[in-house]
Amino acid sequence: MMENNISNIKEKCVGCKSCEQSCPKHCISMMENKEGFWYPVVDERRCIECKLCLKKCPAETPDIHRNEPKKIWAWRNKNDVDIMRSASGGAADSAAKAVLKMNGVVFGAAYDEQLEVSHIEVMTDSERKKIQSSKYVQSDPKDSYLKVKRHLENKKTVLFTGTPCQVSGLYAFLEGDRENLYTIDLICHGVPSPKFFRKYLEYQNKQTDGRVIYFNFRSKDKRGWGTQYLLKTKTKTKTKTKTFSLDRYGKHFMNGDCYRESCYLCVYANTKRVGDLTVGDFWGIAKSHPDFNSPKGVSSVLINTEKGRKLFEIMKPFAEVEEATLEEAMVKQHNLLHPSIRPITRDTFYMDIDEPGFVDGLKVGIQMKERLKSILPNKLIQKMKSI
Ligand SMILES: Cc1cc2nc3c(=O)[nH]c(=O)nc-3n(C[C@H](O)[C@H](O)[C@H](O)COP(=O)(O)OP(=O)(O)OC[C@H]3O[C@@H](n4cnc5c(N)ncnc54)[C@H](O)[C@@H]3O)c2cc1C
Ligand code: SF4
Ligand code: SF4
Ligand code: SF4
Repeated sequence: MMENNISNIKEKCVGCKSCEQSCPKHCISMMENKEGFWYPVVDERRCIECKLCLKKCPAETPDIHRNEPKKIWAWRNKNDVDIMRSASGGAADSAAKAVLKMNGVVFGAAYDEQLEVSHIEVMTDSERKKIQSSKYVQSDPKDSYLKVKRHLENKKTVLFTGTPCQVSGLYAFLEGDRENLYTIDLICHGVPSPKFFRKYLEYQNKQTDGRVIYFNFRSKDKRGWGTQYLLKTKTKTKTKTKTFSLDRYGKHFMNGDCYRESCYLCVYANTKRVGDLTVGDFWGIAKSHPDFNSPKGVSSVLINTEKGRKLFEIMKPFAEVEEATLEEAMVKQHNLLHPSIRPITRDTFYMDIDEPGFVDGLKVGIQMKERLKSILPNKLIQKMKSI
């Protein structure tokens, strides 16, 4: 019985929830494991072995809608507020703005009041800010695929943004492409569990003696485009900002010892892209196109399909763009070559997650270079990058 349903996908499961949303008997529940990643659990008594869950699982259909990039662009959103709120150059945000202008619907990752991250639908321009910037934790897809399907059936234009595995899950769920669907995938090196992020926020609540009500993984307020977080608390109206690699959560996110198991086997960590467009940080821009570099951030945009080209043309008025090469966009992007390497420390990382002092016990290390960089003036760092 087990081979005929989703139970044996195990570590290849990316947690997209397509199976849960597809099962005609509603006998699949997504359950959090000890680490805090959700996996499908099938109620075998109710399963009729129809295999629909397997048919709609991206782990079973990884080759669906995969394309090599045709053109590469460097992207800077012209709107100052939007680029400052975005993770890199605000390319994903410009696409959202363009689709909303066409009266379409946009799906992306947003925080809720408790700072849990999940995919939401955005239908008005004022809501667009909720999906701006990167949340470095697995976003709960919830029932977003079903919602996308309904909108497509009602002839709405839909833009779905997410990690490549989430975009792939959507194509698997829909069993292929649809005329009025646009997708954007992110260059992605892996996701920590929502439980780890929850524990981390509890730790920050203790540290700041308040309640964290705002968290931005990619704040540009103090040091411009880079990896600095900013948090704000309610009770004491405190703000705190820190370089990512000097922080207990950020350090382990960067080290890659806390990712979902599927991330180390990621079939999307190459140039065969799943989205119509791919967006990422154009980390190599200071060297390859120094005049286009900006402390506000630059995105790389990979045009992978004809639809991607169409979307690019529609969103282009919102930005300054410069053509680039794939080699230039691949600088410091090992996830366009291979999946993140699973360090040996991953075996034990989540072992004590249920202990009260779990986050306090995480090590950050001395990291002289990072500490020095965090106190040097930002202008000097930008200059050093271009040499
Ligand atoms: C887990 C993760 C790992 C990443 N790894 C890399 C990397 O190795 N190299 C690299 O260049 N870029 C990486 N990125 C992408 C990068 O952080 C920026 O999202 C990208 O440069 C787009 O920036 P932007 O300014 O165009 O997007 P913005 O305009 O700021 O929009 C952000 C977009 O990201 C989506 N998003 C945010 N958080 C999540 C999430 N948790 N899950 C799914 N979608 C989300 C939103 O829906 C939105 O569309 C990663 C992003 C995530 C979420
Ligand atoms: S085989 Fe069919 S009934 Fe059984 S879990 Fe999968 S989708 Fe549901
Ligand atoms: S990858 Fe998605 S569809 Fe496949 S088992 Fe995991 S949650 Fe279900
Ligand atoms: S690394 Fe691969 S499997 Fe992991 S979240 Fe990113 S796209 Fe999904």
